[in-house]
Amino acid sequence: MMQNAKQLLKKIYGYDSFRKGQENIIEGILNGSDTLAILPTGGGKSICYQLPAMLLPGTTLVISPLISLMKDQVDSLTRVGVPAAFLNSSLSAAEYREVLRSARNGDYKLLYAAPERLDAPMFQTLSESMQIPLIAIDEAHCVSQWGHDFRPSYRQLAGWINRLEQRPLVAAFTATATSDVADDIEQVLGLRSPRRFVTGFARPNLSLSVVTGVDKKRFLTQFLSDRKEQSGIIYTATRKEAEEVCSQLQKAGLEAGKYHGGLSDAERAETQERFRFDDIRIMVATNAFGMGIDKPNVRYVLHWQMPGDLESYYQEAGRAGRDGEESQCVLLFEPADMQVQRFLIEQGSGDEDRKSVQMSKLHMMMNYSRTQRCLQQFIVDYFGESDVEPCGKCSCCQDKSEPVNRTEDAKMALSCVGRMKGRFGVTMAAKVLKGSRDKRLLEFGLDRLTTYGLMRHLPEKEIADWLYWLVAEGYLRLSEGQYPVVSLTANALPVLEGKQEIMQRVRASVRKSGGEAAGG
Ligand code: ADP
Ligand code: ZN
Repeated sequence: MMQNAKQLLKKIYGYDSFRKGQENIIEGILNGSDTLAILPTGGGKSICYQLPAMLLPGTTLVISPLISLMKDQVDSLTRVGVPAAFLNSSLSAAEYREVLRSARNGDYKLLYAAPERLDAPMFQTLSESMQIPLIAIDEAHCVSQWGHDFRPSYRQLAGWINRLEQRPLVAAFTATATSDVADDIEQVLGLRSPRRFVTGFARPNLSLSVVTGVDKKRFLTQFLSDRKEQSGIIYTATRKEAEEVCSQLQKAGLEAGKYHGGLSDAERAETQERFRFDDIRIMVATNAFGMGIDKPNVRYVLHWQMPGDLESYYQEAGRAGRDGEESQCVLLFEPADMQVQRFLIEQGSGDEDRKSVQMSKLHMMMNYSRTQRCLQQFIVDYFGESDVEPCGKCSCCQDKSEPVNRTEDAKMALSCVGRMKGRFGVTMAAKVLKGSRDKRLLEFGLDRLTTYGLMRHLPEKEIADWLYWLVAEGYLRLSEGQYPVVSLTANALPVLEGKQEIMQRVRASVRKSGGEAAGG
């Protein structure tokens, strides 16, 4: 069968070879395995179900929430001679009946449907008269309440599938699922001994970097003056910052435009067009910008602040280098930015469960900002793909600075946190180590701890940074919720017992496009 699949790949799509992952996924489906495939956007999911659909007898059902995608795919399948149709709310009643009739005849190889349609009794009857070898579920993260886009109609899918007289194979696809969400998808959909594939998340043409402890405005000026001819996006966390950064750039004589939810549709559309056609080179935007833009030659994406989770970060950063050319993704990070994101979560809608999920995602985002591991590996690992080599060009891989032995500082910080018994946050722990006369600190009698003032030679902010670093490296843990408290993890014990040394690199700054280091 795989031989046939390769021939079809060439004949129908004109491609010579499968992408990483596609072949394994298709082979699994053709061998009769339920499948969960996690591939990034643009990774080539559609071929993974379209090809098996052409090779299996009967009509493959494709569930998708995206009406425009259904139409595009059906159009292009029809063009190459593969009979396909869709059922969704864009059809008139007459068209709908017509498609149903043909479907009942077995005229299609692929039938696309919106999940809401599965409730319709008419569709129910239809499924009883059709041969369905495979159900492909696109955007499968929508079944999970832990995913970022839960849809109740997806929940009902599982029940519907299991009520079918002959249960077809089920293959679920998504671009975003952490391993918890992936487990949930498999469970909710009732996949049977599913094979799971996570693949294609690495972006070899992106150089990722995290820049900490710089004057952001000065850094930006330097960064842009090295990239005068290039197109790029600067993401800010709030509308206000987008306004500020944009006017800073315009005052400096740069062609910058802004894009955020507070502008009119017309203004946004105009700026987007001007950016698309390189009339302005720099787009300063909130996360409102990006849906549906697919500009190939974005050479850099700079985050003025960290977003709330790594999924968002990687999605936004990933808008750089769509054309495969070398591009840079820079995250400017200050530990205080964590507070901004925490505030946004607290103020957000979502119930308590949802907020606690968001909070732990935020912690992973912060860990990324502080890790010393290869940043590409860190991200890909987060998405569940484990066999990726260090990229060699992110700010961690490039970090040639000598690691500094900070075992003694670690022991002081860890023993202090240990003595505070998981009742206080990072700020208070830093105050204790600093030996601060803070009123609350004194009220709690924390000045009587033996660790009080142990790190008084350092500024309080640096001590807090140091504690956050220990969190990122897994020696300390922050609880979830509105007032996160800090406590020891099991990893802290060998350090406290003198069995393990702690080495820290002082992070190097981002490279210039030319190659050598830009000023920090
Ligand atoms: P996704 O649904 O995962 O976002 P698509 O299925 O739309 O991605 O595919 C993204 C693009 O990659 C499409 O233009 C598709 O034609 C192309 N593509 C997919 N598989 C291959 C392949 N094996 N070789 C070359 N191009 C491919
Ligand atoms: Zn790397």
